[in-house]
Amino acid sequence: MADCIFCKIVDKEILANIIFEDEDCLAFDDMNPQAPVHVLIIPKKHLDHMDHAAEADEALLGRLLVAASNIAESKGIAEDGYRVVTNIGENAGQSVNHLHFHVLGGRKLTWPPG
Ligand code: 5GP
Ligand code: ZN
Repeated sequence: MADCIFCKIVDKEILANIIFEDEDCLAFDDMNPQAPVHVLIIPKKHLDHMDHAAEADEALLGRLLVAASNIAESKGIAEDGYRVVTNIGENAGQSVNHLHFHVLGGRKLTWPPG
């Protein structure tokens, strides 16, 4: 999608530190990390957010979450615990309108989030 930052990262028009890539998914370090490990996992195809996922995207959503788990393992945060979160819309503070899961870990995370 034109003017979408994350589509540009998928197309390698904007550089990011890529952690994992397959046919459908891409994971890269967040440029403004909120924890020692802060990775974003996105589908390569543009979806504004999770509420725009359709039944046909069920497998894709599953793959994104399995990727999150694999990345937590490879980053060494799985044992101590970590968080996977997706912001949907304005009240959640979504700032990039391309579906992404945050994987945060490497420190004690507070709950509830702000
Ligand atoms: P949101 O607030 O939409 O849930 O999260 C968007 C995230 O994308 C933020 O944590 C922000 O730091 C990150 N981000 C925004 N633009 C870029 C970018 O160009 N490169 C990278 N690596 N992260 C970005
Ligand atoms: Zn996009």
